[in-house]
Amino acid sequence: MAEKQEKKDVQSVKGMRDIMGDQYYALQGFFEKAQEICEYYGLQPIETPTLEQEEVFLKGIGEGTDISDKELYTLKTKGKDKLAMRPETTAGIMRAYIEHGMHTKPQPVMFYTYGPVYRHDKPQRGRYRQFWQFGVEILGSTKAVSDVLAIHLAHLILKEAGIKDITLKINSLGDADSRKEYVKTLTAYYRKHINSMGATDRQRLKTNPLRILDSKDEAVAEINAEAPQSISSLNTASKKHFKEVLEHLGELGINYEIDHKLVRGLDYYSHTVFEFFTTPEKNEEGEEMKPLALGGGGRYDYLAKIIGGKKDVPSVGFGLGVDRVIEATSKDITPKVKKAPKVYFIQLGQEAKLKSLAIIEELRLAKIPVAHSLSKDSLGQQLAIAEKLGVPQVLIFGQKEALEGSVIIRNMKNRSQKIVKIDKMVETIKKMK
Ligand code: AMP
Repeated sequence: MAEKQEKKDVQSVKGMRDIMGDQYYALQGFFEKAQEICEYYGLQPIETPTLEQEEVFLKGIGEGTDISDKELYTLKTKGKDKLAMRPETTAGIMRAYIEHGMHTKPQPVMFYTYGPVYRHDKPQRGRYRQFWQFGVEILGSTKAVSDVLAIHLAHLILKEAGIKDITLKINSLGDADSRKEYVKTLTAYYRKHINSMGATDRQRLKTNPLRILDSKDEAVAEINAEAPQSISSLNTASKKHFKEVLEHLGELGINYEIDHKLVRGLDYYSHTVFEFFTTPEKNEEGEEMKPLALGGGGRYDYLAKIIGGKKDVPSVGFGLGVDRVIEATSKDITPKVKKAPKVYFIQLGQEAKLKSLAIIEELRLAKIPVAHSLSKDSLGQQLAIAEKLGVPQVLIFGQKEALEGSVIIRNMKNRSQKIVKIDKMVETIKKMK
């Protein structure tokens, strides 16, 4: 039996973790790739604060959703402001759009963003309390092509990140009238089945009946199988919008599955809603595990007014769960900033130590990445590290070399070495294969 893990005094907050080493580079590499794709498509970067007035999220996300009911990290400042850590990035970007009067700019305004978000969720497989999202928001356009641009970008980013077998699930809630009509029809349907529903779903029937569609309760899953579908409640304009989206996707060759239960519980969604999945992983018994969404999004035409804007700002966007994407891919995207060391710098003696930083700086200026262990003193220790790192060349800078202004360059493959003057060091390293 596994020993019960002792609670340590010094540890990170539950569900939050330190990102370092390869994991750090994987996140950064993913971001660079996603950013590059967005830049090619003419999007602009934005970073909104991780803290917003609590209202920005509570109003936008709405009642009866997991996020507003239990997942929002909130805090009261000493000045009595009620703030919340962002659980997603859309509402903050809409707040920024309104605050900076971006409606005066050519529309749509297209943003991409990247950073940590916070949800007080139960930590488990693929579920953290601080995780990273890459998001895209296209604000100020009613056109179906904007929905398609968002879906296309998410799809491209996942593909370039090495995700194979991407499944896109899509549905439409239609405009405000269609959505209202659907909620009415759905509520009437669930009322007929209320006796088979548990307390949670009964409560949802009052606050947010759409959420019942992703109920975990088995009895309710049966009820859901026969539940009315949102596309049956779409009015003519909403049907036309959804048809156009699907046609564009067809032209782009992006496969999709219409999922009638996909409604994304947040209050602010209208028209197109979508989610991306990949082939489910298998557990130790070889059974398929419940697929985890890698990202999702949709149109949110009414969010602006919900959070206090004077006018509606028709918009569409998505958020990708970067932690999950990285866990699901076998492709390593090396960020540009990461450089494999070309040389390992060894110093021996006080005189050499003192001059070391100037030599490393000379190498940096010549764009030669260098590894070193400046705090080590022995040649053996430093050579062993160089060996382990598999660095092709080693620079040895001892007491004698420091006094003479020279350095020994050792080829780690054939063990040959030569002494060169420091002013010839860069040139010699660059010439060596
Ligand atoms: P959502 O807006 O809830 O659809 O979230 C967008 C994406 O973020 C999801 O598709 C997941 O990939 C990811 N995500 C959501 N919740 C978590 C979590 N607790 N931990 C890690 N990733 C998450």
